[in-house]
Parts: sequence; structure tokens; C-alpha cells
Amino acid sequence: GFKCGIVGLPNVGKSTLFNALTKTANAQAANYPFCTIEPNVGDVAVPEPRLDKIAKIGGSAQIIPARMNFVDIAGLVKGASKGEGMGNQFLGNIRETDAVVYVLRCFEDDDITHVDGRIDPMSDYETIETELMLADLESLEKRKPGLEKKLKQNDKDALQTMRLIEKAIEVLEDGKPARTAEIDEDDKKAWRMLQLLTAKPVLYVANVDEESAATGNKFSEKVVEHAKSEGAQSVIISAQIESEMAVLDDEEQAEYLDAIGLEEPGLNRLIRAGYNLLDLRTYFTVGPKEARAWTFKHGWTAPKCAGVIHGDFEKGFIRAETTAYDDFVDNNGEQGAKEAGKVRQEGKDYLVKDGDIMLFKFNV
Ligand code: GDP
Repeated sequence: GFKCGIVGLPNVGKSTLFNALTKTANAQAANYPFCTIEPNVGDVAVPEPRLDKIAKIGGSAQIIPARMNFVDIAGLVKGASKGEGMGNQFLGNIRETDAVVYVLRCFEDDDITHVDGRIDPMSDYETIETELMLADLESLEKRKPGLEKKLKQNDKDALQTMRLIEKAIEVLEDGKPARTAEIDEDDKKAWRMLQLLTAKPVLYVANVDEESAATGNKFSEKVVEHAKSEGAQSVIISAQIESEMAVLDDEEQAEYLDAIGLEEPGLNRLIRAGYNLLDLRTYFTVGPKEARAWTFKHGWTAPKCAGVIHGDFEKGFIRAETTAYDDFVDNNGEQGAKEAGKVRQEGKDYLVKDGDIMLFKFNV
């Protein structure tokens, strides 16, 4: 599945947030650095109101949401790229993720130590990003000698890789993360193969105090502003509130949200933002047994999407009966949509759209 790594300095609320996300207590939160030693992978249901509606119309006995992974990554400190703290392990764990969620501390609390002794989310961000940029530079320099021989033989792939390495180094030495580099379409695959930490898409979480959950505060303002300047998304959240809310039932949760002036849990916004960040989309299948949401990447064809359910569906793909979500709802389900001529027969080149309800026909 797709993975978002939760990254930040110690004591900024990563574990609290992670716990809330997974509603478990196994990623212990405690008031000292290096509490989160092992990376914890949380398998999270993607909130999807459309799925409930489809299940109701379809009379499905069970609802199965799409899932996404969040990884709580051990606390990073200054010097991680040189192996300080949990440095090497930390960097390796980030390398395995598809995207990075920066958790930045935007709450004041004298009882909870800040590693630098003051609250300054943008300085925290720079500390982390600097370590990641240093790690990238180091890994790029390491790759160069291995390419020399192939370069002498004018190997095309090696030339491309070297050109991209030089480009990345230039950007990084300029103090910018690799994701700011402009990469031609033809170079994108080779660029991804460089596996740069700072080339991954990022999302900013401003972890604010309980009182600022709905409004944000002077610290989160800076985070939002920075994210905007990068064309990135930011989410204001109070991890504390989210962790308290995670154990409530739906009714209690609704009351709580109402009391603090929030429309929905911050976690829902976070999960959705992560979903968008990875360019993910959802299609549905529906039947009497279950209504289910499936995740695919923007731009995937019908057979590729069928392969998310099972490899055989992709291999033996014949066609897909497809209904747009609105058509399904407006016509009160599959039968009505059929009568209204809203169920389409789509072939192997069809690009599946977000919200499509799919029924795959395939050979085994
Ligand atoms: P990590 O080291 O980044 O994983 O941080 P933790 O999640 O362990 O949190 C460190 C401490 O900060 C814990 O005592 C949390 O209860 C506390 N904390 C986390 N989020 C908030 C918040 O939004 N408000 C307040 N007041 N405390 C928080």
C-alpha cells in the first residue's frame, strides 16, 4: 500500500498523532526524546462518506473502506545525517515512504521539553530539511564513482543518471530540497531511481494547542504561509484533541467537534491531504455482500485498476461496466442507472475517474 512517513523533531507530537490515527496505544507517547524507537506502521481507513451512501443504496451487508499507511518515524535530531540520534535508521525509514508528513510543533507547554528550548516551527522545519538535504548530497556523491566506467563507455543510462545527479547536487547546494528541481518528463523515471529523501512530496502538519484547533495560532500561521509558498498543503491539527477524540463513539465525537468548533476530525483532513499528495483516487465496487472502496493512481486505465483487486482481473480484463457516483445515487442504484442509460461499457483504454463504480468482466 501507499505509505506516508510522519517526520519531525522529538516531542512535537508525532506519536500522539500516530496513536490517534491508528487508535491504538502501541506507539507510546512520553515526555522525552527518542521515545519512538521502532518505526510503527499504522494501517488507516480512509474516511469516505460516498461509500456509506453507496452501501445504503446497494443494500450491502458490509462496508470496506480504502486503507493507507502511516509510519511513525523515530525522532530526528540535528546531526542525523552524520548518524546522530537514530540517524541512519531514521533516514532509511524515510527512504521507504512515498511521501513525507512534517509534524511541526506549534503548541507551547513548559512541561514538555523542546530540543532547542523554544517553539519555532520554521526553524524546526529547517533543521529537519537540512539533515535530509545533507543525506541526499552524501548519497549522490557516493553514487558518482560507480558510474565512471559506464560513462567512459558512453552508456546512455549512465549519462542520464549523471546529468540528474549533477542537477540534484546543484539544487541541494543552493539550499533547496530536490523536489524543487524541474524535471523533464523523459527524466522522471531515472530521477525517481535516485531515491532522494527531499524529492518526495511533502505535507505540513501544524500541531497546535487545544484552544487553537479550529483557528490556528501565530505559529501555525508561519507553517501555512511556508506551505503556500511551496505550493504544498498544510493541515492544522491538535494531536492532543485528536487522540482524545479517537476513543469516542460517533455521537460523542459529534458533540465534541461541535463544542470546539470543528466540522470534522483533523485526522480526516490529514488522511485526505495525504491521499491527494500521493495523487490517489478512489473507485467503488458494490454488491449485496459488500460495498468497497479501492485506491488507484490518477491516470490509471481500467485494467490497471482491476489489478488492484486481483492480478487475474488485470490479466484477463475484457471490459468494465462503469457508473459515475452521481449517476448511481441519482438513479437509486445500479438498476435505475441502467434504465436511465447511465451504465457505460468501457474498454481497456478507459481512464478510471474518481468515484466511478466499477464491475469488471474478465477471463480466467
Ligand atoms: P514525539 O516525540 O514527536 O512522538 O512526541 P509525542 O507524541 O510523544 O508528544 C510529546 C509530548 O507532547 C507528550 O507528552 C504529548 O502528550 C504532548 N503533546 C502532543 N501533542 C500535543 C498538543 O497538541 N498539545 C499539548 N499540550 N501537548 C501535546
